[in-house]
Amino acid sequence: MSMIACPECAKEISDKAAVCPHCKKPAAKMQNAAANASPSIKTMTPAEDVTSPAGKEWKIVQLIGGLLMVIGVVAWIGNSSDAGMVIFLGCLIYLGGRLGAWRSQD
Ligand SMILES: [Zn+2]
Repeated sequence: MSMIACPECAKEISDKAAVCPHCKKPAAKMQNAAANASPSIKTMTPAEDVTSPAGKEWKIVQLIGGLLMVIGVVAWIGNSSDAGMVIFLGCLIYLGGRLGAWRSQD
């Protein structure tokens, strides 16, 4: 139990008291109203960067990786000996891009 100032008469009253013993005002009710009137902390959330330059660059990296995978698959269909290597490289670059984009979001 702690003492609060009555919003009406400014005298010290218990925070558990529903009615101020000095001015008979419903203290608890007034307190809740004041709390509701205060601006919420919701507005504190930082504005989201819709398109941060770092995220955009990582998207390009992902695109290059994906493109390499497609080229690798095409080469694999064409029975090229380097197809596996190209697909592997494409996967690595793509995953790197994904990881970079994920890390740049924080
Ligand atoms: Zn009072």
